[in-house]
Amino acid sequence: MRRHEVVIVGAGLAGQRAALAAVEAGRDVAVVTKLHPMRSHSGAAQGGINAAVGAEDSVDTHIYDTVKGSDYLGDQDAIEFFCREAGPTVVEMEHFGTIFSRADDGSLARRPFGGAGFPRTIYAADRTGLALLQALYERLGTESFTTYEEWDLLRIVVREGRVQGIVAIDRTTGALEEIAARSVVIATGPAGRVYGRTTNAHSCTGDGIAIAYRAGAELKDMEFVQFHPTALLESSILITEGARGEGGILKNAQGERFMARYAPHVLDLASRDVVSRAIITEIQEGRGFPGGYVHLELMHLGRERIESRLEEICDFSRKFAGIDPVTQPIPVMPAQHYMMGGIGTTIRGETNVRGLYAAGEAACVSIHGANRLGGNSLLETLVFGKQAGTAAAEYAARAAPPLLHESDLAPVRTRLDALSAKSQGEDPQAIRTAMQATMDGRVGIFRSFAELAKALEELRALKTRYENVRVVDTASAFNLNLTDALEVGHMLDLAEVITVGAIARTESRGAHSRTDYPKRDDAQWMRHTIASQSREGPKLSYSAVAYTRWDPKERVY
Ligand SMILES: Cc1cc2nc3c(=O)[nH]c(=O)nc-3n(C[C@H](O)[C@H](O)[C@H](O)COP(=O)(O)OP(=O)(O)OC[C@H]3O[C@@H](n4cnc5c(N)ncnc54)[C@H](O)[C@@H]3O)c2cc1C
Repeated sequence: MRRHEVVIVGAGLAGQRAALAAVEAGRDVAVVTKLHPMRSHSGAAQGGINAAVGAEDSVDTHIYDTVKGSDYLGDQDAIEFFCREAGPTVVEMEHFGTIFSRADDGSLARRPFGGAGFPRTIYAADRTGLALLQALYERLGTESFTTYEEWDLLRIVVREGRVQGIVAIDRTTGALEEIAARSVVIATGPAGRVYGRTTNAHSCTGDGIAIAYRAGAELKDMEFVQFHPTALLESSILITEGARGEGGILKNAQGERFMARYAPHVLDLASRDVVSRAIITEIQEGRGFPGGYVHLELMHLGRERIESRLEEICDFSRKFAGIDPVTQPIPVMPAQHYMMGGIGTTIRGETNVRGLYAAGEAACVSIHGANRLGGNSLLETLVFGKQAGTAAAEYAARAAPPLLHESDLAPVRTRLDALSAKSQGEDPQAIRTAMQATMDGRVGIFRSFAELAKALEELRALKTRYENVRVVDTASAFNLNLTDALEVGHMLDLAEVITVGAIARTESRGAHSRTDYPKRDDAQWMRHTIASQSREGPKLSYSAVAYTRWDPKERVY
């Protein structure tokens, strides 16, 4: 058995920032990651990171925009803290070596993003995530800690009301391993693959969220799922909001700039839930292109600007859609992009389980509430990654030694053995595809009781089928058939929590839009959904939203 004081699971921006904080606090730190750190989904982030820097912008405006963007479900104390940390965080990342794009006068260049009252999104062309990840990876690399790469978290061991360590599988050998730890930080990132149409990488399967849920952690606001308005038609590859930030416009099949109907003031730069609903409405009312999509036009920006500021977008459009954005419109459709919900935490990354912390997209603080603003998520990984790493280190310094036993492996081993011992059983791929079809079709941008109830029925039938899932591949090393089976199990749990929360929430707020309850209902629903695991499925309770200064208003853009 291995032993470390603090174990961080996940090596994207949140995990690496947490690791840096815990190492700097003097703790013995291990980072466990199923991917090479530089392959984390953070590296796919394109558009930028928000910070109110410069004389014309203000932290208060950033706070207000985020509160409004959240449709008043974000916790205002957390949002205030978050926005105040933004400037110092971006400057720190620059000092770590991030090469941000520059304005003509040499200051940090900023682009307008959806729902923001000021051009506040700092960027490195359209590769911001990669630039940040690279700088942080190099900075963390100068410190002393242990990395377990290509290790998959399988279980968080909780005994006597506190975390004792984790069980993981080393994919390179197939061996099950235990790490005893005084505190554990979950930074395992997104769960977008619960949906079929998603901008998220294949690895974004929500493992850490589901495993924490099984270990007793409460999940918060899982029904709030963000759909990004502009994903490339067939592949669902993201076309950054930065494309509209640079001046790109959306048009329907009649050549109309339709956003004028839905957001007369800010048009294409309304927040993502508003733009996604507008696109679907255009298509449903017959103004989309045949097959159901709209156009994103960049042509009027000119070759120089498109190719320098949106180089990757050009590349993706040319390679994956066979069109050149310099001369042709880009066919786009909304796709799942981000989970506002996650493991419920305090501002310091603490969960309801002692010794268990969470940060990044796997967590829900909550600063995004019912709808996240573009550019706030990269910032979240760094601000709250640091908080969680610091808190986990402080706790580890005073916690008793962990009580992890060799026998803690046993239930995991029994489960894995059972998967491959079957002579007949369900193919994990078939279950995954069916789950994604259910989520795409019935738990999407517009929702209704009838569709959600049907989705829950289908998901529960899939969970029953999953009990009989079979792993055919007998390889020890890199058994991707096994990985697939485990990931589908995680996603089914999360799909169920999303759907149960969506059925219960009889209002429309942010990204959760119920056709049978089209209005926001502050009297009843200005509260967070909390889901805990029980034998009967997700058990829901509710908690208050933290207020400081901003009273709820109708949200218009
Ligand atoms: C295409 C795309 C573009 C985006 N663009 C922007 C943008 O411009 N601005 C913005 O603010 N936000 C953007 N976002 C959102 C933002 O990038 C993410 O929310 C954020 O980077 C997530 O970081 P993270 O550290 O939480 O997770 P990730 O970077 O996904 O890292 C997760 C880590 O967890 C590890 N892991 C997962 N499961 C396990 C397991 N079972 N065992 C061990 N390790 C595990 C992985 O190996 C990985 O290292 C974008 C997202 C996407 C998908």
